[in-house]
Amino acid sequence: MNPEEAQHKIKLLTEQLNAHNHRYYVLASPSISDFDFDQMLRELEELESLFPEFSSPNSPTKRVGGDITKKFETVIHEYPMLSLSNTYSREEIVEWVGRLEKFGLENLSLVCELKYDGVAVGLRYEKGALVRAVTRGDGEKGEDITSNVRTIRSVSLQLTNDFPEKFEIRGEIFMPIAAFKELNEQRASDGEEPFANPRNTAAGTLKLQDSSLVAKRGLDTFLYGVYQEKGAFHDHMEAIRAAGSWGFKIPPESLGYINVVHDIDGVMDFINYWDQHRYDLPFEIDGIVIKVNAYEDQKRIGFTSKSPRWATAFKFKTQQAESTLLSIDYQVGRTGSITPVANLSPVSLGGTTVRRASLHNEDQILKLDLHISDTVLVEKGGEIIPKIVGVNRVKRSHGAQPIVFIENCPECGAKLLREEGLSNHFCPNASACPPQVAGRLIHFVSRKAMNIEGLGDETINVLVKENMLKFPCDFYTLNRSELLRVDRMAEKSVNKLLAAIDESKNIPFERVLFALGIRHVGETVAKRITQHTGSLAKLMQFTKEELLEIEEIGDKIADSILHFFRDDENKMWIEKLIDVGLQFESKGKDKDSDVLSGLTLVVSGVFDAYSRDEIKELIERNGGKNSGSVSSKTDFLVAGEGMGPAKLKKAKDLGVKILNELEFQKLIGNEK
Ligand SMILES: [Zn+2]
Repeated sequence: MNPEEAQHKIKLLTEQLNAHNHRYYVLASPSISDFDFDQMLRELEELESLFPEFSSPNSPTKRVGGDITKKFETVIHEYPMLSLSNTYSREEIVEWVGRLEKFGLENLSLVCELKYDGVAVGLRYEKGALVRAVTRGDGEKGEDITSNVRTIRSVSLQLTNDFPEKFEIRGEIFMPIAAFKELNEQRASDGEEPFANPRNTAAGTLKLQDSSLVAKRGLDTFLYGVYQEKGAFHDHMEAIRAAGSWGFKIPPESLGYINVVHDIDGVMDFINYWDQHRYDLPFEIDGIVIKVNAYEDQKRIGFTSKSPRWATAFKFKTQQAESTLLSIDYQVGRTGSITPVANLSPVSLGGTTVRRASLHNEDQILKLDLHISDTVLVEKGGEIIPKIVGVNRVKRSHGAQPIVFIENCPECGAKLLREEGLSNHFCPNASACPPQVAGRLIHFVSRKAMNIEGLGDETINVLVKENMLKFPCDFYTLNRSELLRVDRMAEKSVNKLLAAIDESKNIPFERVLFALGIRHVGETVAKRITQHTGSLAKLMQFTKEELLEIEEIGDKIADSILHFFRDDENKMWIEKLIDVGLQFESKGKDKDSDVLSGLTLVVSGVFDAYSRDEIKELIERNGGKNSGSVSSKTDFLVAGEGMGPAKLKKAKDLGVKILNELEFQKLIGNEK
């Protein structure tokens, strides 16, 4: 290909990929498969590496990140980024609307919007291309976070139609609750501390130096403020709708996220509706913003020294209540980490009765300066368990004793340790501390590890108490007559369980490694180690230096792995697992075929010739990817007998191709 052809092809692919990205992330109506999208992206990547002179900073290939920002440059805002006046009082909103009427506006027209709880940004576009993304900062100047913002899928890198030559668009970058939960689950399974809330996590993510990490965090955005030299629009709402037509993700009117009203009743309806329904949203909001719609009117009403007079925010009260701190429990997790939990006198908060609150760690107890019997302020956010946010010291009784963090494990009495640089204490007695023994076993059989069905947490606890289980190797010596003696175990379920245990011997090495439950070795790290070492025998010989060469492994993880394999008891039960015949070597890329390469499949229901897991394995052996739920990214649903009607309907609605067992076998050329 000559340079001219390459340039033309790069331009064409860029346009097509941008359009598909827009359909997927902004309009939520993709028109090509992920497979085709990835093919085009790969083609573009190749061309860009052959002809780097034609590669643009806004290329769709930049979405995955990779640019490292050492220091975020300070940028002066072209239009100051003012914050809004705000109030928690409905009366003040009534007064504010009343004051507007005195400006003699012809027709009152107000835009009500959600106040997204995220990070405000200004995005600068020239000739339709994103040139700069800046945080609010102090309003006068902010920080340039362009390479991180480029990785956010719902931010358009190149606009398509009718956009102005030069302008800025403002909005909010936030972390959807689902992405936040997923991130915290990942962190928990890796033995990391969870993040506190979506807003701070979004802010922290945007300040990460490595944009490829930002790309993985699932940030999203709504854009809603257009700023330009000579505006062609009459009012705010018109500008937002136009921005939507240029290719931006704007708040959807159809879902009621934004609405034009004409009187105070309209404003109050909007406030009251979202005050009630805010926890139904897939992201967090902390209030409502109200703006005068017409730009002429905005000009007439003007600014105070700090904020526009033509806009204000109503903030929802965080739900708080006072309670008394009765005592503190210390919970011991699977990997031995200690979490303090406050027991409170029951108090009603946000429609539920609260009796417990999380405290995270010792540092937090010290920061709050908690004393026993303190009157504490409890707050409920989007989280499941409320937290203590303050102490009413005036009400502290004379001689109240400060809380002193325990020094010994409440379960086994071992002296607690605290890792350098980490704020959590942990119990080092992994082999005999009861919650760690049970926790290790529960983790071992869990779905993402050895996937042994038929063993609930309760059953495992019983088996541990009966001395039938202590180490993971003990699962493989459980016998029928002993199990039948255990409470609640019927013959049929015992048979099933034994079959499931036997079947787990086929689970691939990367999952076995994850199942061992090494501190800080989560699913992803286990996968990396497998790719790098290929076998347990090799891993056990690795030095610290060699471990540190593996992607995503730092000091903390390396030390934890070395520590784990140095332990004689661990060596003993792993030795036994090897004898049992578990997979301690990676099968490598031993595949049947690539016919499903790039395709995502969902398996549901019961099949004749295969178990569900066998079908899933066949999918992987033929290059495909398994997913648990049907989405627009699903290529095929492999449907067996008795699958859920909701799943089937969703697949049909999304136009996902449905295969029965026979059709699936034909597809992979495996008719048995
Ligand atoms: Zn312990």
